[in-house]
Amino acid sequence: MKDCIFCKIVAGDIPSYTIYEDDVVKAFLDISQGTPGHTLVIPKKHVPNIFEYDPELAGEVFSRIPKIARAVKASNPDIQGMNIVNNNGQIAYQSVFHSHFHLVPRYTDHDDFSMTFKDNSNEYTPEQLEAIQNSIIKELGK
Ligand code: 5GP
Ligand code: ZN
Repeated sequence: MKDCIFCKIVAGDIPSYTIYEDDVVKAFLDISQGTPGHTLVIPKKHVPNIFEYDPELAGEVFSRIPKIARAVKASNPDIQGMNIVNNNGQIAYQSVFHSHFHLVPRYTDHDDFSMTFKDNSNEYTPEQLEAIQNSIIKELGK
Protein backbone atom coordinates (compact mmCIF):
# COMPACT_ATOMS: atom_id res chain seq x y z
CA MET A 1 0.00 0.00 0.00
CA LYS A 2 1.25 3.44 -0.94
CA ASP A 3 2.40 5.57 2.01
CA CYS A 4 2.73 2.57 4.33
CA ILE A 5 6.18 2.42 5.94
CA PHE A 6 6.06 -1.33 6.42
CA CYS A 7 4.94 -1.99 2.81
CA LYS A 8 7.98 0.06 1.80
CA ILE A 9 10.17 -2.11 4.04
CA VAL A 10 8.66 -5.25 2.46
CA ALA A 11 9.37 -3.82 -1.01
CA GLY A 12 12.94 -2.94 0.00
CA ASP A 13 12.36 0.77 -0.60
CA ILE A 14 13.24 1.45 3.05
CA PRO A 15 16.18 -0.55 4.45
CA SER A 16 15.75 -2.77 7.48
CA TYR A 17 17.85 -5.11 9.56
CA THR A 18 16.00 -8.19 8.36
CA ILE A 19 16.45 -11.39 10.35
CA TYR A 20 13.97 -13.62 8.52
CA GLU A 21 11.68 -13.55 5.52
CA ASP A 22 9.72 -15.90 3.34
CA ASP A 23 6.72 -15.54 1.07
CA VAL A 24 4.37 -14.69 3.98
CA VAL A 25 6.26 -12.71 6.64
CA LYS A 26 9.20 -10.44 7.17
CA ALA A 27 10.94 -10.08 10.54
CA PHE A 28 13.29 -7.17 11.18
CA LEU A 29 14.73 -5.18 14.05
CA ASP A 30 12.45 -2.48 15.41
CA ILE A 31 14.25 0.82 14.93
CA SER A 32 13.52 1.74 18.57
CA GLN A 33 15.24 -1.36 20.06
CA GLY A 34 13.11 -1.02 23.21
CA THR A 35 15.34 -3.77 24.52
CA PRO A 36 18.24 -5.28 22.56
CA GLY A 37 16.88 -7.62 19.90
CA HIS A 38 13.42 -6.01 19.76
CA THR A 39 12.01 -7.47 16.55
CA LEU A 40 8.89 -6.90 14.47
CA VAL A 41 7.16 -9.72 12.61
CA ILE A 42 4.83 -8.49 9.89
CA PRO A 43 2.74 -10.13 7.19
CA LYS A 44 4.05 -9.11 3.77
CA LYS A 45 0.47 -8.51 2.74
CA HIS A 46 -0.84 -5.15 3.92
CA VAL A 47 -3.37 -5.81 6.66
CA PRO A 48 -4.04 -2.91 9.03
CA ASN A 49 -4.80 -4.73 12.27
CA ILE A 50 -5.82 -8.05 13.86
CA PHE A 51 -9.49 -7.43 13.10
CA GLU A 52 -8.80 -7.71 9.37
CA TYR A 53 -7.03 -11.09 9.31
CA ASP A 54 -8.73 -14.00 7.62
CA PRO A 55 -8.12 -17.43 9.20
CA GLU A 56 -5.64 -18.48 6.52
CA LEU A 57 -3.41 -15.43 6.94
CA ALA A 58 -3.66 -15.69 10.72
CA GLY A 59 -2.52 -19.30 10.61
CA GLU A 60 0.33 -18.54 8.25
CA VAL A 61 1.60 -15.59 10.28
CA PHE A 62 1.11 -16.95 13.80
CA SER A 63 2.63 -20.31 12.95
CA ARG A 64 5.91 -18.58 12.05
CA ILE A 65 6.25 -16.58 15.27
CA PRO A 66 7.53 -19.29 17.66
CA LYS A 67 10.49 -20.17 15.42
CA ILE A 68 11.49 -16.50 15.10
CA ALA A 69 10.97 -15.95 18.85
CA ARG A 70 13.18 -18.95 19.66
CA ALA A 71 15.94 -17.62 17.40
CA VAL A 72 15.82 -14.16 18.99
CA LYS A 73 15.94 -15.72 22.47
CA ALA A 74 18.79 -18.05 21.58
CA SER A 75 20.80 -15.17 20.08
CA ASN A 76 21.68 -13.74 23.48
CA PRO A 77 22.22 -15.72 26.68
CA ASP A 78 21.11 -12.72 28.76
CA ILE A 79 17.53 -12.97 27.43
CA GLN A 80 15.37 -14.38 30.22
CA GLY A 81 11.95 -14.14 28.58
CA MET A 82 9.99 -12.30 25.93
CA ASN A 83 6.86 -10.19 25.63
CA ILE A 84 4.99 -10.58 22.35
CA VAL A 85 2.81 -7.54 21.82
CA ASN A 86 0.32 -6.66 19.11
CA ASN A 87 -1.22 -3.19 19.25
CA ASN A 88 -4.50 -2.55 17.45
CA GLY A 89 -5.79 0.99 17.05
CA GLN A 90 -4.34 4.29 18.14
CA ILE A 91 -5.90 3.96 21.60
CA ALA A 92 -3.97 0.71 21.98
CA TYR A 93 -0.66 2.41 21.05
CA GLN A 94 -0.64 1.34 17.40
CA SER A 95 1.37 3.90 15.45
CA VAL A 96 2.05 2.01 12.21
CA PHE A 97 -1.17 0.78 10.64
CA HIS A 98 0.27 -2.31 8.99
CA SER A 99 -0.22 -5.15 11.44
CA HIS A 100 2.87 -6.27 13.33
CA PHE A 101 3.93 -8.31 16.31
CA HIS A 102 6.57 -6.96 18.65
CA LEU A 103 8.99 -9.55 20.01
CA VAL A 104 10.53 -7.81 22.99
CA PRO A 105 13.31 -9.74 24.70
CA ARG A 106 13.35 -9.35 28.48
CA TYR A 107 16.52 -9.12 30.49
CA THR A 108 15.75 -7.82 33.98
CA ASP A 109 12.90 -6.33 36.02
CA HIS A 110 14.38 -2.96 35.22
CA ASP A 111 14.96 -3.16 31.48
CA ASP A 112 13.18 -0.70 29.22
CA PHE A 113 9.90 -2.54 28.77
CA SER A 114 6.93 -2.60 31.10
CA MET A 115 3.27 -3.47 30.81
CA THR A 116 0.58 -2.88 33.38
CA PHE A 117 -3.07 -3.66 33.59
CA LYS A 118 -4.91 -3.04 36.79
CA ASP A 119 -6.61 -5.86 38.65
CA ASN A 120 -10.25 -4.70 38.80
CA SER A 121 -11.65 -8.08 39.73
CA ASN A 122 -13.20 -6.86 42.99
CA GLU A 123 -15.33 -4.36 41.06
CA TYR A 124 -17.31 -7.02 39.16
CA THR A 125 -20.19 -9.18 40.29
CA PRO A 126 -20.64 -12.64 38.76
CA GLU A 127 -23.72 -11.25 36.97
CA GLN A 128 -21.70 -8.48 35.35
CA LEU A 129 -19.05 -10.95 34.20
CA GLU A 130 -21.75 -13.20 32.79
CA ALA A 131 -23.28 -10.28 30.89
CA ILE A 132 -19.89 -9.50 29.34
CA GLN A 133 -19.33 -13.18 28.58
CA ASN A 134 -22.70 -13.46 26.86
CA SER A 135 -22.33 -10.31 24.79
CA ILE A 136 -19.06 -11.62 23.37
CA ILE A 137 -20.43 -15.12 22.79
CA LYS A 138 -23.33 -13.57 20.87
CA GLU A 139 -20.88 -11.86 18.51
CA LEU A 140 -18.94 -15.08 17.97
CA GLY A 141 -22.14 -16.81 16.89
CA LYS A 142 -22.73 -14.35 14.04
P1 5GP B 1 3.30 0.29 17.14
O1 5GP B 1 3.44 1.51 17.99
O2 5GP B 1 2.46 0.58 15.90
O3 5GP B 1 2.84 -0.94 17.86
O4 5GP B 1 4.77 -0.07 16.66
C1 5GP B 1 5.37 0.49 15.55
C2 5GP B 1 6.85 0.24 15.68
O5 5GP B 1 7.46 0.46 14.42
C3 5GP B 1 7.56 1.15 16.68
O6 5GP B 1 8.11 0.37 17.75
C4 5GP B 1 8.64 1.84 15.85
O7 5GP B 1 9.87 1.94 16.52
C5 5GP B 1 8.75 0.95 14.65
N1 5GP B 1 9.14 1.64 13.42
C6 5GP B 1 8.57 2.76 12.91
N2 5GP B 1 9.17 3.12 11.76
C7 5GP B 1 10.14 2.18 11.54
C8 5GP B 1 11.09 1.99 10.49
O8 5GP B 1 11.19 2.77 9.53
N3 5GP B 1 11.91 0.92 10.59
C9 5GP B 1 11.85 0.06 11.64
N4 5GP B 1 12.71 -0.97 11.66
N5 5GP B 1 10.96 0.20 12.65
C10 5GP B 1 10.12 1.25 12.59
ZN1 ZN C 1 1.48 -1.83 4.59
